[in-house]
Formats: sequence, C-alpha cells, structure tokens
Amino acid sequence: PDGSQSQDWLVRRLTVLSGPSGVGKSTVVAEIRRAHPQVWLSVSVTTRPPRPGETHGVQYFFVDDAGFDRLVAEGELLEWAEFAGNRYGTPRRPVIERLERGEAVLLEIDLQGARQVRHSMPEALLVFLAPPSWEELVRRLVGRGTEPPEVIERRLEAARVELAAEKEFDVTLINTAVGDVCRELVTLMSVE
Ligand code: 5GP
Repeated sequence: PDGSQSQDWLVRRLTVLSGPSGVGKSTVVAEIRRAHPQVWLSVSVTTRPPRPGETHGVQYFFVDDAGFDRLVAEGELLEWAEFAGNRYGTPRRPVIERLERGEAVLLEIDLQGARQVRHSMPEALLVFLAPPSWEELVRRLVGRGTEPPEVIERRLEAARVELAAEKEFDVTLINTAVGDVCRELVTLMSVE
C-alpha cells in the first residue's frame, strides 16, 4: 500500500466546522461538549485575550506573540490563521494522536484554516455552518455586545467574504436550532 492509503485512514474521522464569525460556531461547540462527549474537540491556541468566562485550556490556550511564533517555527500547528488582528492555530500532535486511535475529531476554525486542512488532509469532511439569513447574522454579531464597534465592523466584513465560501465545503448546515445542528453534525461524523 502507498502512503496515501494510510493518509486516508488518518483523516477519515477528521471533521472541520467553519463559517462566518457570529454564525454560532462556539454555541454549537459548547452543545457538542455537553450532549456529545464522544466527540473530541481540538483546543486551539490564540493570541487574543480571554473573554469573561473563558478558561485557559478549555475554550483556548491563550499565548503571547512570542509563544505563537515558537509554535509556528517548530511546526507544531496543523494550520493557523490571522483573524481580526489575532492569530489562531490548531495544535498538531493531539489531533494526530486521536485520529491514529480512530477517535472522532472536530476542529472549529475559520475559513482560512479550513482551506489549509483541505490541502493538507484532503479526506477531511468540511462542514459549513450558515446563518438562517444575513440579517440574523448581523443581529448576532452586533448583539453579542462583547467587542468594540471597530472589531464588529472588521468581523462583518470578514463575514461577507466568508459567506461566499460555502461552495468550497462538502456540506452546509443551517444554524436554525443548535440541538438539530449538533445531531446532524454527529450523524455526519458517524459517532452517534
Ligand atoms: P473568536 O475570537 O470569536 O473565539 O474566534 C474568531 C474566529 O477564529 C472564529 O471564526 C473561529 O472559528 C476562529 N478560530 C478559532 N480557533 C481557530 C484555529 O485554531 N484556527 C483557525 N484557522 N481559526 C480558528
């Protein structure tokens, strides 16, 4: 067997959830954590400061710029991207270890990161989380109330670009009800 077969096997259970900021990805992820603990969720590293209620090692590993630089230089990130002025990346080792054990792995990452996974692991399943409507997306982005106006503006611009990326994905899930989205996602991952 050539190398590509083991590569296929490795990425069979890798699922990537992406979509515009504010579409509700982190709500979906929180519900997966609660209702579907058999799905292992990758914890990203980020240079963004923690929001109230976020805990180091749970939502993210919070690192400074030098720490992030070091992870990039040492090849420790499966993918990484800059988003709204901060960097975010997926630690490689824990993901590969789980895939080698045959466990289902879920990454919640931005579009640039999803594109990198598409190239490095072409067998991964790319799932696009879409808002019920553009108006609903704007309402959610503005309504979160945790970011200053210039940050919201940057995120709206990114969301406009990101919505057009749906066609690059294998599957679209419309985020109307979070429980339904999670059940559909878990079915897609064949871990129900
Ligand atoms: P937030 O700051 O709202 O937690 O996340 C901002 C954006 O960064 C979201 O679109 C989220 O999906 C994305 N993101 C979180 N972790 C990663 C990661 O490890 N890699 C990439 N490429 N994007 C990430």
